[in-house]
Amino acid sequence: MNLRKTLKVNDRGILEIGGCECTELVERYSSPLYVMDEQYIRDVVRAYKKTIETTYGNGNMAYASKAFCCKAIYDIMREEGVCIDVVSGGEIYTAIKSGFDLNNAYFHGNNKLYSELKLAIDNGIGTVVVDNADEADMIDELARACKREQKVLVRINPGVEAHTHSFIQTAKVDSKFGFSIKNDDALDMIKLLKGKKNIRFAGLHCHIGSQIFDKKAFALAVDVVTDYVAYLATEEGIEVQELNFGGGFGVHYAEGDPKYNVEEYCDYVKLLTFALKDCAERKGIAMPKFMIEPGRSIVGEAGITLYKVGAIKDIKGIRKYIAIDGGMTDNIRPALYDAKYEAILANRASEKCDDIVTVAGKCCESGDIILKDVSLPKARRGDILAVLTTGAYCYSMSSNYNRNLTPAVVFVKDGKSAVAVKAQTYEDLIRADNALDYKD
Ligand SMILES: *Cc1c(COP(=O)(O)O)cnc(C)c1O
Repeated sequence: MNLRKTLKVNDRGILEIGGCECTELVERYSSPLYVMDEQYIRDVVRAYKKTIETTYGNGNMAYASKAFCCKAIYDIMREEGVCIDVVSGGEIYTAIKSGFDLNNAYFHGNNKLYSELKLAIDNGIGTVVVDNADEADMIDELARACKREQKVLVRINPGVEAHTHSFIQTAKVDSKFGFSIKNDDALDMIKLLKGKKNIRFAGLHCHIGSQIFDKKAFALAVDVVTDYVAYLATEEGIEVQELNFGGGFGVHYAEGDPKYNVEEYCDYVKLLTFALKDCAERKGIAMPKFMIEPGRSIVGEAGITLYKVGAIKDIKGIRKYIAIDGGMTDNIRPALYDAKYEAILANRASEKCDDIVTVAGKCCESGDIILKDVSLPKARRGDILAVLTTGAYCYSMSSNYNRNLTPAVVFVKDGKSAVAVKAQTYEDLIRADNALDYKD
């Protein structure tokens, strides 16, 4: 468990986050409940931003909204003076409604809809990250209608494929994302964009994977991308003013994963800025603006999910299941890609873990298992189970399967709590339902 000042077991043996006891949070807001540690989010964002400023200069970070999106998180990013990345009309709409200046937003997607591009450009999106040729005409036309020149980056596929504990360099051009730099795909796209009157080509973007621990993968990406930048400059006379290296920094979920504090998370950023400075110097290219787009490493460890223990089923000699009042509807990651987590009995957090249990969700799917064979104190109905590191890709991937309700999201800070997203109600569930009334 990667505990910290704002996530700890207090002297009453209760798990505390942001100065709030988890037992009290459940009493007040019910369960399941997503809880986000605001100070931790701000600490990581500040540290990333400062690291970029001190080790590189010209650059910033963009928070990858898809990890966790609601108005409150955009408020925090605005206050911290960082950018965001958005991938859909829904995220753009949420950002607009929170008052976020879209000029500081990057719009991604392999199939941005015309309606989404229009919403983005009409509202002054700063950068569109182009990922297919169809977009060029749409962006040009929409920007012309707004009498603007739309800044764009081109998403490239550098052929560096990184996974949690390994990475490979491939000549592979088979990906739904990006344009390959191993053939002429990226160059053709850049030339197409440079030919459009209302588009300004500013640079390149790449994103090599997610939950990456091996930092050498990022160094390799910088090397490959800067080779391409040097090639564009010398062979094609094309200037790259900005490089965006995406996100993907690995975080601690379960035993075996490294445990980083905020300073140590900045090592990912330092590695990138040092590698870029070094490559730019060696290859004789001008230092571009530097951008990263971390999502998981900002909100992942900031979040926990609180559940109440319900039914307990001990299949003698086989397995003991404890069931919780949520499951794959609030955390799809174990079912989707076998993600691992750590859990703690929040109301009896300093008791000995002398039982081995499997934590089952309440959905009608045998695969709805949140944790398998974890050690906990002997759990009873009504105990509060906290699953850690659920801040990223849990709320944002939540569903209403079985018509379960989406839990509330509560932010905590300095012993206070505030609702960022209200819990759904049954009334919310049927709000969009309509009785059939066929028309011919
Ligand atoms: C998912 C994604 C990110 C964020 O990745 P994390 O692993 O959450 O840091 C950033 N940029 C792009 C383009 C992405 O697709």
